[in-house]
Amino acid sequence: MVATILDGKAIASQIREELAEEVAKWTAKRAITPCLAAVLVGDHPASEVYVRSKRRACEQAGLESQLHRLSGDCRESDLLELVDRMNRDPAVHGILVQLPLPAHIHESKILDAINPMKDVDAFHAENVGRICQGRPRYLPCTPHGIVQLLHRTGIKVSGKQAVVIGRSDIVGKPMAMMLMNRDSTLGPACANATVTVCHSRTAGLGDITRQADLLVAAIGRPRFVTADMVKPGAVVIDVGINRVDDQLVGDVDFEPVKQVAGHITPVPGGVGPLTVAMLLYNTLLAAKLQHTSA
Ligand code: NDP
Repeated sequence: MVATILDGKAIASQIREELAEEVAKWTAKRAITPCLAAVLVGDHPASEVYVRSKRRACEQAGLESQLHRLSGDCRESDLLELVDRMNRDPAVHGILVQLPLPAHIHESKILDAINPMKDVDAFHAENVGRICQGRPRYLPCTPHGIVQLLHRTGIKVSGKQAVVIGRSDIVGKPMAMMLMNRDSTLGPACANATVTVCHSRTAGLGDITRQADLLVAAIGRPRFVTADMVKPGAVVIDVGINRVDDQLVGDVDFEPVKQVAGHITPVPGGVGPLTVAMLLYNTLLAAKLQHTSA
């Protein structure tokens, strides 16, 4: 069997076109343009690239974007003050503090300072708690993009054995919660999986991953998932972005795994473009939630 490639790039373009139409309609009825404010601390090269591509995507969808820069040696209080200003600015609907932050700044303190109504990354404890309780306000962009990809390619999740490798707050944990919940924004077929979460202390990882109808790899280790870890016909979602010899590779050993899996996402062109598309979705949603009567 050779797996069908799940073209995240094409699906992300489709979502972005739909969003651009919706933004145009929403903005035409009001004198308000949804606005994303991004914060960059220091000069992390990958963060520069991510923020640039997010801002470009905003522009293409008809959203406004702002960029606030702080130097890498700024005080934590400087960043908290900036977040507070953006929280109080009615022209800003979504706030994104690009991670990672320099080591002397407490990430959780900053993320918890963001007004949960403007938390378009869905990292604030209140928004995480709401997902956990199955009543989300915003969904984190990467797992939401994956759910959209599965839905739009007709892959049902309900009743499946899903294995998520990785338990980060950004990808692994919210992904597991969303797959496990009773319902999703796209209906119950995109939820209701039986979910196992694996991490670096998991014993017998291959025995667990071989049970998976749906395998999500969010590890950050190049080509970590090998063909012998995959159940024939499984859906394999590769979240990883690793730079090896100037090349981007995923957490899945793509070519051999493609010979075993039923469906697989490539890197690049899989999950990454969907993450950006769902950030635009959340920015529009944030504007809607903040102007319910406008
Ligand atoms: P983290 O480093 O925060 O988490 C990695 C997870 O993988 C941890 O839970 C860790 O376990 C687990 N892990 C590490 N080694 C092993 C191992 N040998 N066996 C099993 N589990 C292991 O990474 P993120 O979740 O933030 O990101 C994961 C990858 O996804 C990265 O490559 C990142 O660049 C990429 N990414 C891609 C995005 C996209 O848009 N496509 C968006 C966000 C991230 P433990 O908890 O025990 O340490």
